[in-house]
Amino acid sequence: MTVRTRFAPSPTGFLHIGGVRTALFNWLFAQRHGGKFILRIDDTDEIRNLETALEPILKGLEWLGITWDEGPGVGGDRGPYFQSQRADRYATAAKQLLDTGFAYRDFATPQELDAERKEAQAAGRPFLYSRRFAAFDKKTAAAFEAEGRRAVVRLKMPREGQLVIDDKVRGQVTFAWEREQDHVIQRADGSCLYHLATVVDDHEMEISHVIRAEEHLSNTPRQAFIYQSLGYTMPTFAHLPLVAEPGSRTKLSKRKLAKYLKNRDFAQVSEHGMKIANQIGLEPESDTFNPVIVDFYRDVGYLPWAIDNYLTLLGWSLDDHTEFFTRNQLVENFSLERVNSSPASFDPKKLWTVQDHYMQQLSTAEKLDLMMPFLLKADLVVEPITDEIKALVAQIIEASGDRLKVAGDILTYATFFLVEELTLDPVAVTKRLAKPGTADLLKQFIEAAETVEPFHPETLEPALKSVVETAGKKVGDLIHPVRVAITGTTVGPGLYDCLVILGREKSLDRLRNALEFCQ
Ligand code: GLU
Repeated sequence: MTVRTRFAPSPTGFLHIGGVRTALFNWLFAQRHGGKFILRIDDTDEIRNLETALEPILKGLEWLGITWDEGPGVGGDRGPYFQSQRADRYATAAKQLLDTGFAYRDFATPQELDAERKEAQAAGRPFLYSRRFAAFDKKTAAAFEAEGRRAVVRLKMPREGQLVIDDKVRGQVTFAWEREQDHVIQRADGSCLYHLATVVDDHEMEISHVIRAEEHLSNTPRQAFIYQSLGYTMPTFAHLPLVAEPGSRTKLSKRKLAKYLKNRDFAQVSEHGMKIANQIGLEPESDTFNPVIVDFYRDVGYLPWAIDNYLTLLGWSLDDHTEFFTRNQLVENFSLERVNSSPASFDPKKLWTVQDHYMQQLSTAEKLDLMMPFLLKADLVVEPITDEIKALVAQIIEASGDRLKVAGDILTYATFFLVEELTLDPVAVTKRLAKPGTADLLKQFIEAAETVEPFHPETLEPALKSVVETAGKKVGDLIHPVRVAITGTTVGPGLYDCLVILGREKSLDRLRNALEFCQ
């Protein structure tokens, strides 16, 4: 059997972290078995602007390296891959179900159904439609139509017995048919609903394994009934554990942004992201600036593989200790048998450490490629990028070392090197420059820095130390003011590296300018 898996997002305008995990598991499983991974767009509901709603999903998957063998932009011989273009196939299937008696036309009005539902509630029994307005033949249908009624098509679900599904993650799952409703598969206007569409598509696209989120487990009985009734072979099902909020078993939701920003585990990551967003003029209030959505991580400069690697661990593990995998290692080792069924809580801090791990493995040249777009976006460098600028930024990257955790961090560490006019952070000024005796110390350091040869950490460090020693002060009394004077802030690469990267002339200018803030 050829393994064929699929990811079937609805075009919602964003790619959710949980969706990525589903896509990844499907992709990995297909890769592992030399199969095909299909991207299908579930757009049965009317979408106002499909292109806008779809683009972030396609872009997000591409960025993460989750490539599809068939689907939008790629084609394939089981297409079209948009449900909105397959309506006739669903209508044909609905007709087949009607013709074979597995579905019926139902003429009940919503009020009549509601009345039945309330009656059941009052009697304390589960609601099961009486099928009072069901038409199993043309004559009955014509009579209802004559009353001005319109029909939907419902499944004629079994009302006794059980369905047993062999789920690859959950094992045997048993459903009692009596708990299933006669679900609608076609509306009065002839359009078909998602449950019918998904079965028809999975069958026609020859999907061998339906690997999807846990929330679809409860949809499986009605879909299984459709498979059986249409005479299709059922795929293998695997329902993945819920991707939950940090430290919880509640589903991670895009709508709870305000809550997440206050959550301790999200706070550090989000604040960091907000800072970077501000620096590049991104709209932090925008819909996608949400740590539940992939765009957030791309925009602040995470590495796609860090995200893939971390998300694969949400529900799957190889053993108790391996955390970092190459793409090949994951593909070689991935199996549904090792997927856990209990909710997997999304931990942004853990993702952060995975990101840090991969970032520190990159070469300076690789970091440069990743970080330069951030500097361009913030207008700190302009095109064409000269070799001189490249060399300068490379120097900054090297001096910043492992302080650069995400690509956007370059903004924090490079800005003061690249601006012509330095703005000093007022808090840093008060704390470090506006202290009695600072002016004298700074003046003496300026004098030393004017003549020290060469202008190098190995000469600057003793020069600075000798100034403080002579004045009977502590190193911190001078090192902090010098940092604020030349960087405008209290964070940055090593001070002597900063001086050298800036060069003697600029460093001296900035030191002299800072004197006006000193006491
Ligand atoms: N379009 C559905 C979703 O976005 C896919 C469900 C399925 O995988 O069957 O959740």
